[in-house]
Amino acid sequence: MKKIYLDSAASTVIDERVIEAMIQSMKEDFGNPSAIHSFGQESKSKIETVRKNIAQWLHVNSNEIIFTSCGTESNNLIIRSCVENLHIRRIITSPLEHKSVLETVRDLKEKHLELEIVFLPILNKQGDLDFSHLENLLQDNIPTLVSLMHSNNEIGNLTDIEYIAKLCKKYNALFHSDTVQTMAHYPLDFSKIPVDFASCSAHKFHGPKGIGIAFIRKSTGLKGIMTGGAQERNMRAGTENVHSIVGLGKSFDMAMKELNERRKTIEELKRYTIDQLLKKIKGVSFNGHGTDFSKSIYTLLSILLPFPNTMVGFQLDMKGVAVSQGSACASGASKPSKTMLQLYGEDELKNTTTLRISFSHYNTIEEIDVLINILSEIQENKVSTILS
Ligand code: PLP
Repeated sequence: MKKIYLDSAASTVIDERVIEAMIQSMKEDFGNPSAIHSFGQESKSKIETVRKNIAQWLHVNSNEIIFTSCGTESNNLIIRSCVENLHIRRIITSPLEHKSVLETVRDLKEKHLELEIVFLPILNKQGDLDFSHLENLLQDNIPTLVSLMHSNNEIGNLTDIEYIAKLCKKYNALFHSDTVQTMAHYPLDFSKIPVDFASCSAHKFHGPKGIGIAFIRKSTGLKGIMTGGAQERNMRAGTENVHSIVGLGKSFDMAMKELNERRKTIEELKRYTIDQLLKKIKGVSFNGHGTDFSKSIYTLLSILLPFPNTMVGFQLDMKGVAVSQGSACASGASKPSKTMLQLYGEDELKNTTTLRISFSHYNTIEEIDVLINILSEIQENKVSTILS
């Protein structure tokens, strides 16, 4: 059975060229980058080449690129250091953020009782946020960090980060954007989008797991939070993961060079999936702004099936198709995700199933056909079970 992978928002298959670059680096770059001998300096120079290259893609200074272990670490570093070192007294964020932001904010609130946390209200079932409320809040003269993700990882909604960044600038607030789902999928030019901080993770664009970036604008004066080493310009202590940095660099470079081509393929797949679902799955609907390509990330489609079935993800997996079921299974009971509950409420979700289908340029129309046929079979079985 040929397996079909439609869960690239969770993690992507590693590009063969990235694997080759990493193997070569593992063989060659074993010297500690902090050592002054030639072995160390060779490793150091590989890291600096990647840093410079990524900085060029993002139109920033290379000393504003800090290598971390992942998106979660980057979000932690930025948000925690803003409170602990830049004396931020208020964080404005949204209830739809990734848990690496939400749980960090919650933890900071427990440790710093004076810290104010504001969640922007959700305006509608599509998950739009109330940005006029954000502007009202920013008019108070409180040292503030705004943290809003570029694309939501469950429903795919895009935030206009250029607009938010400019709004934050106008009111002297700092702006962090979790760009884990969008970096290397969109051409982000941070010389035009005045974000102060952004996070990125290589395994979302065919790079290795365990390596990420924190973009930290120099002018913010942010400091590292880990002790024990001066690596990464004092921003992130610990011996650098050289071969993973090389892998990150290669995958970033490939993603940016092939961006238009990959995007065209993936957009066609997403359009086809929407079209086929509407034709073959009765009562299907789309979460967030899924069908609006200007408001939703092209790599992801979250759907709401009009029947309750905690086993859909499992049934698909049994047939070799991997998607993400938008539910967290605790003690055998399947519950809708927090994001879905924020959008719809428990009652409305009672007789539904959420699936997140996420694409890469390696997927094909034939694979989408297999997915839709299985979903259609599942729906028919479900109908006959109800009738019998
Ligand atoms: N932020 C978003 C929006 C994500 O989708 C993810 C991963 O799914 C993360 C942060 C965490 O990234 P990592 O897996 O590199 O820790």
